[in-house]
Amino acid sequence: MTKKQKKILARIIASAALLLLATIVKDGVFSFALFVSSYLLIGYDILIKAGKNIMSMSLLDENFLMAIATVCAFIIKEYPEASAIMLFYQIGELFQSIALGKSRKSIKELMDICPDTATVIRDGKETEVSPDEVAIGETIIIRPGEKIPLDAVVTEGFTSVDTAALTGESMPQDISVNDRIVSGTVNLSGVIKAEVKSEFSDSTVSKILELVESSTEKKSKSENFITRFAHFYTPIVVVLALLLAVVPPLLLGDSFSSSVYTAIVFLVVSCPCALVISVPLSFFGGIGAASKKGILIKGSVYLEKMSSVKNIIFDKTGTLTEGKFSVTEVHSENYSQEEMLRLASLAEAMSIHPIALSIIAYTKTEPDESRVKNLEEISGMGISASVDGRNVLVGNEKLMQRQGITYSAPNMPGTTVHVAIDSIYAGYITVSDKIKSTSKQAVKMLEDMGIGDTIMLTGDNKKTADAIGRELSISKVYSQLLPQDKVKVTEEIIEKQEKGSVTAFCGDGINDAPVLARADIGISMGAMGSDAAIEASDIVLMDDDLRKIAKAIKISKKTMRIVKQNISFSLIVKIGVLLLGALKIANIWLAVFSDVGVMVIAVLNSMRCLKD
Ligand code: ADP
Ligand code: MG
Repeated sequence: MTKKQKKILARIIASAALLLLATIVKDGVFSFALFVSSYLLIGYDILIKAGKNIMSMSLLDENFLMAIATVCAFIIKEYPEASAIMLFYQIGELFQSIALGKSRKSIKELMDICPDTATVIRDGKETEVSPDEVAIGETIIIRPGEKIPLDAVVTEGFTSVDTAALTGESMPQDISVNDRIVSGTVNLSGVIKAEVKSEFSDSTVSKILELVESSTEKKSKSENFITRFAHFYTPIVVVLALLLAVVPPLLLGDSFSSSVYTAIVFLVVSCPCALVISVPLSFFGGIGAASKKGILIKGSVYLEKMSSVKNIIFDKTGTLTEGKFSVTEVHSENYSQEEMLRLASLAEAMSIHPIALSIIAYTKTEPDESRVKNLEEISGMGISASVDGRNVLVGNEKLMQRQGITYSAPNMPGTTVHVAIDSIYAGYITVSDKIKSTSKQAVKMLEDMGIGDTIMLTGDNKKTADAIGRELSISKVYSQLLPQDKVKVTEEIIEKQEKGSVTAFCGDGINDAPVLARADIGISMGAMGSDAAIEASDIVLMDDDLRKIAKAIKISKKTMRIVKQNISFSLIVKIGVLLLGALKIANIWLAVFSDVGVMVIAVLNSMRCLKD
């Protein structure tokens, strides 16, 4: 418990003791004094808040409801009730603050990724400092069992690291010299030295912390609804209570004290605390549960939307497939194979496209800027450059068609990269990519959940695309798309969907940022070590295991279920007590107990969101 919580608890106990004493002491004046002190002790802060609200003419809130309810209780001489209303209200508040603290803590457990110190080597000596004091370029040393404090590149030693704290799955990764290590992962076996590549404030850990902490700012529709609801709700309740207090005595000749009593019951029951607190708490819990699984959700609005996903669109290369190509066939025409490969790989040598990387690796070519001029990378098509003074084109059918070059179409599976030299066809290089081992299961999990359509978009040729679509049982495949076509297809899918449905796009965040932004929900993967992935999307998967999408939908559905349960449960109980109150069956005690009871149950229920 925090200091503040302890203070409230002490006030609750003291005020309850005074209340008890007041009911035992029969002496009128003395007993009254005890009631007043019990009431003021527990309620003074609420009275002050309510008073401030009136002074500033700001909108009425729960404090105001409680204040007038209890002041009226005093006026009609229901002293124990006045204290009790405040007491239970404060118990509810205390309970809610403990619950909130608990879910914060459980998110903090994920935040356990945050390293406390870094051991940096300065002037040949090891010094322990706080991670944010380490500069780029400094060398840090990490021993087995220690958390990796900063994003760095290994310069000495080898080890394996555990990424479980970030990805939610324990998969030790072997690391040796020149490999990147990511802050927040744990060094398992060897002592390593590494050169720091970014400051702590830019590190993966900081980015994740920042993201999760600010996630509650992007409010869901349900939360916004409750806030707006509370705005006009409280004034209406106050006016109704006033009518309840005044009208029956004037029209029916009831006694004022009995009508005011009914009005107090009404005020207490109408307090919306259970909803105001339990709904955000549920979303908070859902976001926490997801982050423990290595799924970062940037706001409750996305968690809410995720529950109505109908279409999931995947990018192909690097998302459904590994994005690591290898050359499987080389065929040359008009030129020697050696010359065709040499010019093609020099043209590709500056590109970081996965296809380019595979060709460069195959021919073991070093980039040589002095031999390559007018380099142009045409996205979705390939490369055009002048190499050793020759005009070289390397890319797909579209690129060849654009230049009016006739090409051969091989009958082999894989992606065909055509090469033309000085406008004469020179042959092709076939490269193939592997489907990720988890993709098939990921698609099946979505299908089993009853998602409408799984869709694949790719710039690759139809034959390869269809083969991969069939292998993964994807329901729709769109191939030969330029990056802007991917946005268009996504827009069409969104336009065609039923109202209230949601289309999500999942990509690697590197060359598909426009689509990520255009989709209702953008999901990027591989956040560990990639800033682009974290920034471009609404939901971020720490690793690139697509099965996490189904998990995220599950968590989202569960959260929404709990939110709806809480809303309907508290409304039903409250309406019930109100009816009893109108029939003069319910008294203030029943109202107070039902109010606190509903709140406790709703809060406990929303805590279930934390567990998956
Ligand atoms: P995807 O949609 O599968 O992610 P891209 O949009 O990155 O693929 O590329 C689409 C197609 O464009 C590739 O399949 C390839 O045929 C061609 N291409 C793009 N860049 C290059 C390159 N550097 N070298 C050769 N071909 C390329
Ligand atoms: Mg791509």
